[in-house]
Amino acid sequence: MSKVQMPVSLLRGVGKATDALLERLDLRTVGDLMRHFPRGYEDRTVLTDVAALADGMTACVSVTLTSSPVLIRGRNRPFVRAMAADDTGVLVLMFFNSPHAADRLMKGERYVFYGRASLNGRTAAMINPVIDRVGNDVTSDGRLVPIYPTTAGLSQYKLRDVIGKSLAYADEATELLPSVIRARYGFMSISDALRIVHNPPDRELLERARTRLAFEELFILALVLTRRHRSDAAGRMLPTPDMTPFYQALPYNLTGAQMRCVKELLADMARGTPAMRRLLQGDVGSGKTVVAAACVYAAAKAGVQSALMAPTELLAEQHYQSMRELLEPLGIHVDLMTGSLNMKTRRAVLEGLFAGVTDFVIGTHALLSEDVAFSQLGLVITDEQHRFGVEQRAKLAHAGETDEAPHVLVMSATPIPRTLSLVLYGDLDISELNELPPGRTPVQTILVPEKNRQKTYAFMRSLFKQGRQGYVVCPHIEGSDDDILSVETHTQTLSEAFRDYTVKFLHGRMKTDERERVMRAFVRGEVTLLVSTTVIEVGVDVPNAAIMVIENAERFGLAQLHQLRGRVGRGKHASYCALFSPNANAETRERLKALCATNDGFALAQEDLRLRGPGDFLGVRQSGVPGLHTAALGGDMSLFSDARDAAHALTMADPELEDYPALREHVEKIIRMRPESS
Ligand code: ADP
Ligand code: MG
Repeated sequence: MSKVQMPVSLLRGVGKATDALLERLDLRTVGDLMRHFPRGYEDRTVLTDVAALADGMTACVSVTLTSSPVLIRGRNRPFVRAMAADDTGVLVLMFFNSPHAADRLMKGERYVFYGRASLNGRTAAMINPVIDRVGNDVTSDGRLVPIYPTTAGLSQYKLRDVIGKSLAYADEATELLPSVIRARYGFMSISDALRIVHNPPDRELLERARTRLAFEELFILALVLTRRHRSDAAGRMLPTPDMTPFYQALPYNLTGAQMRCVKELLADMARGTPAMRRLLQGDVGSGKTVVAAACVYAAAKAGVQSALMAPTELLAEQHYQSMRELLEPLGIHVDLMTGSLNMKTRRAVLEGLFAGVTDFVIGTHALLSEDVAFSQLGLVITDEQHRFGVEQRAKLAHAGETDEAPHVLVMSATPIPRTLSLVLYGDLDISELNELPPGRTPVQTILVPEKNRQKTYAFMRSLFKQGRQGYVVCPHIEGSDDDILSVETHTQTLSEAFRDYTVKFLHGRMKTDERERVMRAFVRGEVTLLVSTTVIEVGVDVPNAAIMVIENAERFGLAQLHQLRGRVGRGKHASYCALFSPNANAETRERLKALCATNDGFALAQEDLRLRGPGDFLGVRQSGVPGLHTAALGGDMSLFSDARDAAHALTMADPELEDYPALREHVEKIIRMRPESS
């Protein structure tokens, strides 16, 4: 047995208690420990002068102890206090709950402390700082200290210690990357990479080690995905019909990107097996609807039915309208199925579906009810699928009366870099609409200083006078926080400011039917100004809305702001997006300026990813992709495509990974672990 499979309890310093704690982190073997990657690093390479400490700042100081530590027993918790100083100032050190701190500190010695500073008046203090280094030989070459994901009761210190011990076996770590691939990309060995991520000598090497480990994870993910694909369900072959009538009935020409996507989708459907599972990704307004309609047309001509599932009744209705316009002139029978149909209509719709008279049904989750039966369901489309769980997708996908799985098309307007989609929607192929139809006037976006608020309102009034409508988005539903506006309080203010117009509000805590009522009134133009939370983010189409005001814009991610902005600029009118962010710091302003500077959702998503990091952006764990550690998702996007290419090349050359038994075993283990998704 390889040493990396050795149980952690055999390491020195790992007793019963530690063993149990490690098990909670799923760390059972020495190999597990070595692959427990830091979630970040404390930078102790830079020393800060005591005089330069600011309140709340986390820093490293090099000081000499000017008093012996004393135990203070006040009325509150007892603590150990010591005074220290460097050339620039005096620092008070306080240690709570650490009776041994006193033993480790001696008057007259020099130490490096790492911790959060607080300023009481002009006196700097640190509470429970880490005692980093001791002795007089302190130089300024500090360290990057790993911070691990851990569990209650297991200190960073202890975890670092046992991981350090596990690294004695780093030479025996299983190398999963084939040597040809390592050579091609100039990657270091797994043993070196492991030693370095846990104990980085400098940033440059750390970066190289992380890149190598990230590549490995992505490479393995890509292998997992290709292998899963091979076992995909059989779909029905839907030969592509003559599409000319469809194109000719359109009031415009498709863009190049639309043409390409239609081709990709129809090719999947024509091939049949495996059934199509494709994500159609396109910025707001890129024209996904017509691409989906082309597929529905092809499916209908091949004699099967299609279903489109939307997250809300309103969206279902809007799709129903536009799909009918596109398809009914071509003899495709389109129907609508929502929860609020009366019995009689519902019955008629069900009969149409069962009898095969209806070619295409559009609906909400009502489509998932038990009694919905299709004659021949061949294509399932979901819009804005992040609102639907994978499970629901699967359920509908199996609602067909045949053994063959329906083809699945997922439409998403959440702009995600292609490479990341690969991770998020790992089991889907991707088609990308990276081009907007011609003739759009881009939305003009402005970061408005607070002092111009009234001016903005005056401008809104002038738009409303011309018959336009608008949105105001607030981060909170209720409450009157000075800093953050809420829908409820702000609606009051705005009702005053826009007394001559109808102002209504909308938020996620309202009942669904109430929400839909307000939304419908807005669609019909009976409401001029809609104050809302981000619930309006998803896909509603009101071409008459010409201004979007976003309050406390600093509270939203770039991708989300872009999505909100996409609610305007959908018609022929010049449109505007006004951002208020009175409390924005420099960094936030930079972010918001990026939004003002471009209307390109993908560029913004990329930037958002860079600024916020993949953790916030993705939530990988929830999406059921195993084996992706945070270490895997650095900023370097080309890594994704490289890893994918390498995996494909290897799969071509050696489909069963016969020459790579360790890799094969690893991939298979992940496939077994991975939750089934459709
Ligand atoms: P989204 O991708 O956001 O769902 P839609 O499908 O709703 O976008 O399309 C947005 C608008 O663009 C619709 O009014 C649609 O009719 C129009 N449109 C779509 N494709 C084209 C095109 N090739 N040329 C001109 N207008 C188009
Ligand atoms: Mg849409």
